[in-house]
Amino acid sequence: MSLITEIRQRKAILRHTKIIATLGPATDSEKVMGQLIDAGIDLVRLNFSHGSHEEHAWRIKTIRKLSREKNYEVGVLGDLQGAKIRIGLFKDKKINLENGENFCVDTELSLEEGDQEKVGTTYKGLAGDVNTDDILLIDDGRIVLRVLNVDGSKINCEVVMGGELTSNKGINRKGGGLSAPALTEKDREDILHAVNFDVDYIAISFPRDADDIKLAKQIFTDAGGKAGIIAKIERFEALESIDEILDECDAIMIGRGDLGVEIGDAEVPGVQKTLIDMAHEKNRIAITATQMMESMTYSPIPTRAEVSDVANAVLDGTDAVMLSGETAVGKYPAETVRAMSRTCLASERRALKKNSDERVDTLFERVDEAIAMSAMYTANHLNVAAIAALTESGSTALWMSRVNSAIPIYALSRIEKTLRRVTLYKGVYPASLELMGRTHAEVNKEAIDVLLKCAVVQENDLVIITKGDLVGVDGGTNALKIVRVGHLIDPQ
Ligand code: PGA
Ligand code: MN
Repeated sequence: MSLITEIRQRKAILRHTKIIATLGPATDSEKVMGQLIDAGIDLVRLNFSHGSHEEHAWRIKTIRKLSREKNYEVGVLGDLQGAKIRIGLFKDKKINLENGENFCVDTELSLEEGDQEKVGTTYKGLAGDVNTDDILLIDDGRIVLRVLNVDGSKINCEVVMGGELTSNKGINRKGGGLSAPALTEKDREDILHAVNFDVDYIAISFPRDADDIKLAKQIFTDAGGKAGIIAKIERFEALESIDEILDECDAIMIGRGDLGVEIGDAEVPGVQKTLIDMAHEKNRIAITATQMMESMTYSPIPTRAEVSDVANAVLDGTDAVMLSGETAVGKYPAETVRAMSRTCLASERRALKKNSDERVDTLFERVDEAIAMSAMYTANHLNVAAIAALTESGSTALWMSRVNSAIPIYALSRIEKTLRRVTLYKGVYPASLELMGRTHAEVNKEAIDVLLKCAVVQENDLVIITKGDLVGVDGGTNALKIVRVGHLIDPQ
């Protein structure tokens, strides 16, 4: 077998696309969490819309314990609830709306007083934000109302599409434009808990613009938090300020659930592609989320359409795909992760190409960026088996992972937080490596030993090592070295 075929075969088992699994009641045991890890999750998501702080604390403690036992890094993402606008409760739990009927959303009605004619809402400013002929979408668009007129606190509507309606469902205006602030009191409190949990990523829900991200980031860092900032793109307005939002965050999550309600479901696939491209151009991460394997909440196999959806997200270049209810409350959490994983792997055979046309017109601003880009160009044009990026902050690995490539990038770091941060970067694998007090020759040898241990390289393979002259300096990578495994190594 030729060397190149052999290397390709070995690499075929490494999935580049990362999988995020939401934890919830269905995963609340060491056994199921262990199964999720074995099935290949890269990060877990704690959804602060559900569950108590004690529950989240237990989940995070358990996942970190299992991750240590299994010697496998799992990142943790805390997802804030945000200003999701909801209707109030119905006294009889549910109502049935007929087409053509009148129905009123009253901002002054107490939240428990809903009935067949009217319901309250969590957003007291709603009446001031809507106008005659606006379309209101309840329960992800299952119920459609048209505003007839606004009379003080009463938004009088005609039912355009009726059906059964239960308490607490979300309410959106088609086309967006509701001015509720993104951060609620609950979010501010949850941010402090997220800091205590030492999450690796924090996701901001429903941001309208970059200021919403800045504010959340400020509160988080003031409380001593250190984590990647994820902007959830799920409002119409967020698309209008996407450039500025990307500048303020580390990653975006394409929240296709709420986004689809605001911009219309048909627009979502195209917007998904644009957002992934824009994120990558700005050296940011893209996560594709919501309903990816929805039917697996109840079924042990996915539909063909779901497999295609995950596959297309991979072909679009997404860094990560996310599971929500499928794992949190689903009947088949581990099976779902396995189905998603094999779908990603199969699509990557087509998605990952071996040439570099990314950023060819860009003037690099930083030395570590230039080294990272050179490494990827070299790796894609030379028969290299793996890249070992020795990194403090993970930034070299991030630059590298923006370039489409089938070559695995090992982020070798002595810093645990960095190892967990890179779990979200496409094609990047974390591995622990102590650098302090080592000579360059020792470091090179140990880096190769890690790759050998991971069975990603063998004797005679070429490996690229990137590193800095100084240990302990962020962004200090200034050297690229190509070595042949088993033929080590000069003292530099
Ligand atoms: P959620 O956000 O899962 O927190 O609702 C994602 C989405 O709206 O798609
Ligand atoms: Mn959402």
